[in-house]
Amino acid sequence: MVHDGSMAAAGDRLRSAGARLTAAINDYAAALRNADGATLGEGLIRTREAKDRLECVFAEGLRRFEKSGEYAAEGALDLVAWLRSNCKLSGGAAAERVGVARQLEHLPETQKAFARGEVGYQHVAVMARTAEHVGVAAVRQAEASLLKAAETMDPGLFTGVAKNFEHRMDAAAALAEANRAHERRYLHVSEPLDGMVRLDGLLDVEGGAILRTALNASMLPGKDDDRTPGQRRADTLVDLCRRKAGGSSTGAGPRPQLVIRASLDTLLGTPGAPAGELETGGFVPAETVRRLACDAALTRITGRGELEAEISHAARSIPPSTRRAVEARDRRCVAGRCDRPPQWTDVHHLQHWTQGGPTILTNLVLLCRRHHRMVHEEGWGLRRGEHGRWGLIPPLKLVAAHARSA
Ligand SMILES: [Zn+2]
Ligand SMILES: [Zn+2]
Repeated sequence: MVHDGSMAAAGDRLRSAGARLTAAINDYAAALRNADGATLGEGLIRTREAKDRLECVFAEGLRRFEKSGEYAAEGALDLVAWLRSNCKLSGGAAAERVGVARQLEHLPETQKAFARGEVGYQHVAVMARTAEHVGVAAVRQAEASLLKAAETMDPGLFTGVAKNFEHRMDAAAALAEANRAHERRYLHVSEPLDGMVRLDGLLDVEGGAILRTALNASMLPGKDDDRTPGQRRADTLVDLCRRKAGGSSTGAGPRPQLVIRASLDTLLGTPGAPAGELETGGFVPAETVRRLACDAALTRITGRGELEAEISHAARSIPPSTRRAVEARDRRCVAGRCDRPPQWTDVHHLQHWTQGGPTILTNLVLLCRRHHRMVHEEGWGLRRGEHGRWGLIPPLKLVAAHARSA
């Protein structure tokens, strides 16, 4: 067959070329043996050039040999194993040559310089390793300047140049990756639905770290804290925003304004009164309106219709001097053994101002937002114990439930 015939012809040609190569090497070896001095030096240089030239030939052949899969015909598991058992190469040296063969296919300028003897095998091995590390596309963009360096440097120095290049590429790649991630950041705050607002978002790594650090630093699990970690994180986020919006690191000073529309009945806690309406959307229960109104600096409450004037008149803020006096006396949330500092607290009216409780020191205590909420919305009581601390009294219905289950 023609195909078999051409294969046989190629084999004949290779064998006779190989014989001529061996004869030429023998001839060359004899000539080198007779050389000395500067001529011997010249001969040694020529020897290395020939060896590099043969490595180039070897790499081209090896690339095609790998693609043919022929190495497997003899039972070798892979090309490296085949090279080790047939070509007197260690595993490392074999793997390096496979790497060179693969990468050279994609580095045409390097391939040409290698074939012309402008760079040696070791230079090319460094280029191939660099391409493996940072990708062939990056090396190709800088191929000309890298080759220029390789031509004037020994492979050891050139390795330094290549390593620098790798670091620059890695840094550039890492920066590009970070910039892509940064572009994807977003935060979505949904409209209130079923009494909840859904948060949904993505942060880049730096933003995530800052958020995580801020949340963890402020998560202060109290001694009687039965909130889940998720609930603590949610509370902490809101507290952080509350402080930020107030622009103050303590409870005194400007506080964020929540504008709530509520009727006087709602404020008075009259049974059957409508819920309060947040200006930003959503409704809050009457008791929440009363809690927010408790530390009125936090909240501006507007009534409806003819109630407007009445409520505006009634809703007064706690003067900063009064707040400072309460902070100086209580130092922290007064509930039980809670130790949350003033910046996490509201000023609570023991008797609500809508029921005539005055905004004076004796009617005010510091409560952290969690305890403030427990006292208003969850029905807990406050009872003054010894040493001026306030004990928490569970809601009646909870006591009754416990009594039943006991
Ligand atoms: Zn209160
Ligand atoms: Zn507390």
